[in-house]
Amino acid sequence: MVLETELNQVVERLVDKDARVAAMKALERAGDAGISAATDGLSHPDWQVRRWSAAFLDHHSNAAALQRLVLTLDDPKAKVRQWAVHSIACEPCKTGENPIDVTPLLIKRAKEDKAVRVRRTAVIQLALRMPDRRIARFLRGLLATESDEKTRRFARWGLRIHESGRPWRTGLQFLRRRSVIATCILHRAT
Ligand SMILES: [Zn+2]
Repeated sequence: MVLETELNQVVERLVDKDARVAAMKALERAGDAGISAATDGLSHPDWQVRRWSAAFLDHHSNAAALQRLVLTLDDPKAKVRQWAVHSIACEPCKTGENPIDVTPLLIKRAKEDKAVRVRRTAVIQLALRMPDRRIARFLRGLLATESDEKTRRFARWGLRIHESGRPWRTGLQFLRRRSVIATCILHRAT
């Protein structure tokens, strides 16, 4: 049994790219205790620890971790917020139910975040949700005002999905647990 303090040290090693794979595997092996350590990592003073903790939680999370990620949506560092937006919403990387109503949180990020990459991530995640008129309405409004071409592309794609009423079907499920360090393709797209 790995002690909690040891797991907290493992979380700190996530920032070192040479140690990251081993650290992620150790957290994965620890199960809920590993998820709990990564959840604590979201409060770490080093933003890189917060960022990689949020990334770990994309593939390994539970209700408590997802609840805690809501607070990280307001992290002062954009790269931490970007992973929080991704991990709280990305369904291809999850196996369980998400107890959080993510849509209003994503709309707020897509509207208000000062970092364009965070806004793009929020728009991609909105596009991928089940067809929802709230999202279609929001994306139409966004297209009337948004000037960033990449964000507009994601918004147009999302609008087609949400106006059609047909959910986005994808082969992205293959990403699930393909690798403990799989950086989700949806994250790279932004
Ligand atoms: Zn993902």
